[in-house]
Amino acid sequence: MILRNATLPDGTRHDIEVEDGRIAAFLPPTDTEPGIVVLPALVDGHIHLDKTLLGLPWVPNQATGNRVADRIEAERRVRAARTVPEQQTGANLVRQIVASGTLHMRSHVDIDNQLGLRNLHEILAVREQFRDLVTIQIVAFPQSGILRSPGTAELLDAAIEEGADLVGGLDPVGIDGDLDGHLDPIFAIAERRGVGIDIHLHDGGEAGIAQLAAIAERAVAAGLQGKVAVSHAFALGSVPTDMAARTADLLAAAGVAIMSHGPGGAAIPPLKLLREHGVEVFGGSDNIRDAWSPFGNGDMLERAMLIGYRANFRHDEELAFAFDMVTAAAARVLGVAPYGVAVGAPADLVVVEAGSLAEAVATRPRRKLVIKAGRVIAKDGVLVP
Ligand SMILES: [Zn+2]
Repeated sequence: MILRNATLPDGTRHDIEVEDGRIAAFLPPTDTEPGIVVLPALVDGHIHLDKTLLGLPWVPNQATGNRVADRIEAERRVRAARTVPEQQTGANLVRQIVASGTLHMRSHVDIDNQLGLRNLHEILAVREQFRDLVTIQIVAFPQSGILRSPGTAELLDAAIEEGADLVGGLDPVGIDGDLDGHLDPIFAIAERRGVGIDIHLHDGGEAGIAQLAAIAERAVAAGLQGKVAVSHAFALGSVPTDMAARTADLLAAAGVAIMSHGPGGAAIPPLKLLREHGVEVFGGSDNIRDAWSPFGNGDMLERAMLIGYRANFRHDEELAFAFDMVTAAAARVLGVAPYGVAVGAPADLVVVEAGSLAEAVATRPRRKLVIKAGRVIAKDGVLVP
């Protein structure tokens, strides 16, 4: 396979030769006119495959308040009324995501003392079903808290035993009201099982900042630098810049990454400041058509646009940064290697019609081709049977 006259994310133009599933060579372009942009496979650093209701008749949002706790309660009602297994709706979402060019993702999966490991088993089945198309990392996620839902710590540990890759967490203070009581079991499981951590932290202001500092301190103490992420971290966007900068230094020194999906209703962390201070910043979809959000479609090129929109990005290098969050940076956090449009890397590529990377982020054009290991798996946004 040769992709002719391809503009790479860095703006250089080549004919790309693909052989045996890998990028074999960059050759001089055969044409002088810009034609296509060739991107690396997109990476979704934060999704909830078990929550989505994609493919089902529309379910109106039922939360009666605006707090995280209100949404947790609303979701319990939606879950109880559900008749279609999570494997089916999760599969609907994975098909849509792969057709839009995402070939790696990290999915949080709800675990509490009501559900047990049921959702985990459903999403493990999805992972198996699509193993030839996409890699799915699973976070054992205590959506109802750990102390508020007795028995959850044991279930999180059992989830790792049964195939989850990381242990999750949720607002240690805001939900469980006990910083150490929440973080102790999470870090104990991670150390004992040799897995990473990814904690949802919505708590804002100085309370959120204190929790970020505690997580960074524990990451260093446990020798888990580079294996801990915090998702959302709205607090970083809700405190004065000097406090955010000091916290960024702590996070960078502890190798704690920050995930942002470009939130619509909360403060967005100062992404550029974080990166300037050496923090790994990556992106994800978060909720897609579920009890939490009516929005989302799993398209990570669109997600890069939304992140850029929320962060007030305008220049090409800023759009490239938003794109990096849903590609190379997310790949590093997920441990996907080798990765990228480079000679010797797997030919996992996305082809769009655009003149440059920045134009592709701004216009998020239809995916002409999605290529996995040199094989076309989707054309014009539709999976090849
Ligand atoms: Zn989430």
